[in-house]
Amino acid sequence: MIRIDDILEKIAGSYPEKDVTFLKKAYVFAGRAHKGQVRRSGEPYLSHPLEVANMLADMMLDKTTLVAGLLHDALEDTDVTTEEIRDNFGKEVADLVEGVTKISRVQETSPEVRRAETIQKIILAMTDDLRVIFIKLADRIHNLKTLKYLGENQQKRIAKETLEIYAPIANRLGMGRIKAELEDLSFRYVEPEAYFRIAALIEPQKKRAEEDLQKLKAELEQLTRDNKVPAQVEARIKRPYSIFDKMKRRNIDFDQVYDFLALRIITDTAKNCYAALGIIHQRWTHLPNRLRDFITVPKPNLYQALHTTILTAEKRTYEIQIRTLEMHNLAENGIAAHWKYKEPDPSHLIKEDQRLAWLREMVELYKEQKNPREFLKNLKTNLLPEEVYVFTPKGRVVSLPLGASALDFAFQIHSEIGLHAGGAKINGRAAPLRTILKTGDIVEVQPSSEKMPRRDWLNVVFTSTARHQIKRWLNQREKVKSINLGKKLWDKIQAKYSLPPALASGTLLLERLTQILTYRVRKIEDFYALAGSGKIIIDKNFMEKLSLEGRAEERKPAFLERVIGRISGKSGSGILVKGGEPGLVRLARCCSPVKGEPITGYMTAGKGISIHAVRCPLVAKEILANERLVEVQWDPSAKGAFKARLLIRSIDSPGVLAKVTTAIAKSEGNITKAEVLTFPDHRAQIVLNLVIRDLSHLESIMGQITRIKLISSVERV
Ligand code: MN
Repeated sequence: MIRIDDILEKIAGSYPEKDVTFLKKAYVFAGRAHKGQVRRSGEPYLSHPLEVANMLADMMLDKTTLVAGLLHDALEDTDVTTEEIRDNFGKEVADLVEGVTKISRVQETSPEVRRAETIQKIILAMTDDLRVIFIKLADRIHNLKTLKYLGENQQKRIAKETLEIYAPIANRLGMGRIKAELEDLSFRYVEPEAYFRIAALIEPQKKRAEEDLQKLKAELEQLTRDNKVPAQVEARIKRPYSIFDKMKRRNIDFDQVYDFLALRIITDTAKNCYAALGIIHQRWTHLPNRLRDFITVPKPNLYQALHTTILTAEKRTYEIQIRTLEMHNLAENGIAAHWKYKEPDPSHLIKEDQRLAWLREMVELYKEQKNPREFLKNLKTNLLPEEVYVFTPKGRVVSLPLGASALDFAFQIHSEIGLHAGGAKINGRAAPLRTILKTGDIVEVQPSSEKMPRRDWLNVVFTSTARHQIKRWLNQREKVKSINLGKKLWDKIQAKYSLPPALASGTLLLERLTQILTYRVRKIEDFYALAGSGKIIIDKNFMEKLSLEGRAEERKPAFLERVIGRISGKSGSGILVKGGEPGLVRLARCCSPVKGEPITGYMTAGKGISIHAVRCPLVAKEILANERLVEVQWDPSAKGAFKARLLIRSIDSPGVLAKVTTAIAKSEGNITKAEVLTFPDHRAQIVLNLVIRDLSHLESIMGQITRIKLISSVERV
């Protein structure tokens, strides 16, 4: 068991004296709080927070994190309160401990929802203070180390959660060492068979492999020395989990895993990395399709290195990684390196750091989409990327998540190329932009100034960067459309009311608008956009509110209604929009929703809100952009006439149609169109267009028809 003195000794040289005192105080506090508690391993409970703090000290994190690490279980498992922690150690420590505690409080039992909820909590905690995740990762590592004392089910659940959530997060943050440790500790519990099989495969080869590695290491040292490239060479047998991961990802056998034996060269400058690569390629044959330049094109987590795989005279392959010492430290510690000894400005980091791009996206996603299923779907593309590597015609390596299309590639190269992508060439042949890329593809995208993004591109792209850019472009264009429409609308309407001229435009109008609208209106275009997109409706009510006297004089109301009527298709459609003033609302023609059935609203550019039935394929297949869906409901007091279409199957017999139409008339439905199709095998199909009052009216009509003899089915189409 680690002792506090070991930790204090470790940090004494590099941390200020008062930090050391602060940590001592936290140790005494934690010791008192956990007094008498014992871990499953039989050790005193305090051993756990001490191990966590020790790992955080190894990562050289600031004192706040170390102290919060010592206290991380105090809220959950002892009588200590947040206030006590705050009074003794300050707000930051108290907030961190609370953040860690919240993550462990997910009680949901369904594994999928539990996972989504855990991730949501982690993401929210991380955006408050990124250091929460460092503590949580250290906590998880120590829990994994002592997993053998738990029951089998718990072992599996914790290890699986680690591989699914914590290891990918560590990877995204560039924390390679922590990620590797999490994976290796979890692997044997999640996939015991694979783990022992791989261990058994490595074992007999180990002795020879180690000898070979040592020989190669010596040769590399000699070569770099002769060429005056400063280099430190490391040799290792790859970790079981990384071998397993590679076998699974590439669907290959153990003996095809090239980099089971790996070497690493650490040098001083990027220039010397390339020099070392050149020396190696002169000495050995290398596999061209395994050469990766992550120095020119770093991974999304900012990982940088050159990777090459060589083939020796004995026909053995070795992967060699070449990087500078700085790149090496970054690959090991990632974003945690910012917190070395001191406390940086985390809000700045969250906004700027490329490694946190996914986190920012996740937060946006969380704000828009709290539905766990939808959230998870997006997570898969953001958090768990399996990568493919493709090339530009000039040989530049571009890494993309598995499943990315040529269009994703275009956006990866440059947003302008993506936005104006005309066509693609893959391996020299013309190919559609939607083509899914494979590792090794040489991809070229021809931009054309006439090409512009379309909404269906959102179904073609896989990466969130591309999605984001397309959405932004579409929103921008729709905003322009809305502004134009809104301005037209306003010009027409305000001319019909005798508004004081000062109020018709200019700053006075803007001032009045900010007073009466719940939306923020900074410039007049904002108001036009709201009117044009249907978020607000400019009607008599609105004009009354706007006019300073509290009442607008209407000159030609009939015309006004015509204007609105034409744009909305139907005014007074009986829809309530949640949290907003009802704007321009119309029923979508694709699914013709009927009062009473589940519906959703969709903001369209320039046409206000269109109402779709939830059963509509556009909704069911999630083709509509999520962030533009608005919650709507039927106004129970509104009376309406709705269109519906029925498909009736029956035996072909004289009088069937007459019976059907009579039944409908009795139920007070109106038929606007009827089509009858008969088939040689004595079947018939009747398609009816009806006007009905609401869903229950329609259902009673369908019930009446079903009761007629010879009818085999009735369905809504
Ligand atoms: Mn813990």
